[in-house]
Amino acid sequence: MKDIRSKDLKELEEIILGYGESKFRAKQLFEWLHKKMVGSYDEMKNLPQGLRQKLQADYPLVPLRIVEDLHSQLDGTIKYLFELPDSHIIESVLMRYKHGNSVCISSQVGCRMGCKFCASTLEGLVRPLTPGEMVGQIYAIQQDIGERISNIVIMGSGEPLEYLDITERFLTLINHEMGQNIGQRHITVSTCGLVPQIKELADKGMQINLALSLHATTDEKRKQIMPIAYRYSIQEVLEACQYYIDKTGRRVTFEYALIHGENDKEEDAKSLGKLLKGMLCHVNLIPVNKIEERNYESSKTSSIENFIRILESYHVPTTLRRTLGADIDAACGQLRRRYMKKRGE
Ligand code: SAH
Repeated sequence: MKDIRSKDLKELEEIILGYGESKFRAKQLFEWLHKKMVGSYDEMKNLPQGLRQKLQADYPLVPLRIVEDLHSQLDGTIKYLFELPDSHIIESVLMRYKHGNSVCISSQVGCRMGCKFCASTLEGLVRPLTPGEMVGQIYAIQQDIGERISNIVIMGSGEPLEYLDITERFLTLINHEMGQNIGQRHITVSTCGLVPQIKELADKGMQINLALSLHATTDEKRKQIMPIAYRYSIQEVLEACQYYIDKTGRRVTFEYALIHGENDKEEDAKSLGKLLKGMLCHVNLIPVNKIEERNYESSKTSSIENFIRILESYHVPTTLRRTLGADIDAACGQLRRRYMKKRGE
């Protein structure tokens, strides 16, 4: 992989030594890339010019280009569209909370998981992002706003556990003490439920938060909205989550998009309560965001309130996701689609 931002320190050392330079140059390079987050070799003032030229020739450094940024007047949310070096478009969102700035990043261009309510998957997977493109979203946003980012959720387009090695490298880079040093407990990985990879992640001994997109309480219903349910049953998914909890001691979040008439009835809430009762977990209810291509409608306020009340009667901690950036269409792949249509794709 030619992407310099995806290299870990050891790989940078090998590159530097290969040029016949001293090893400490690798540390300097790593800091320029991941601490100071510069977008060109020219800015790396303490590296010899010859070295910078060689790097530029062998590992071109192309930062993500902001092609659009939409600012919410309601809550300071900023939605970014970035162009990648091969001209694909991805989106990321900055959300401002009392406890700090949080960024939602994409892990792939498109997605092949096929969830029926999701705009990111309508045309399948184009390609996974590199680890460097994943950190690049955070760096570009940090540079743009000039403020520190303290929390990261990998909840944008893509399935981050499909290529676990890529996500793991991303985690190593963003958590690195010589870079941004964002704590593992401040990072959340959201998955549609790839059972083997959940266990593999659990075995890595990290303190990453896991969010599991459940969205239904029976396999039959889940299959109707999430094709991945044909591969793994809810029981297998919950067992994998329990394994994750046992290994990491972290509380798992279950995401549940409330879709009017599909999964928001009293019986659904009861069945969810029964499934999760006693587990070290928390449910995050998301009123489904309507996408043009599908007919799903968000649940009515009364159904949402009822749903929460029932879950609470099972002592399952529940929160309703706050809608941020409601005025800028900040939801799930919609902005990208609109931009691509405009570009004629
Ligand atoms: N592939 C991963 C991460 C990306 S999706 C996953 O499935 O978790 C991030 C979250 O947004 C998931 O919970 C997903 O189900 C949810 N989501 C996607 N489209 C949505 C929509 N239109 N309305 C509400 N939530 C949606």
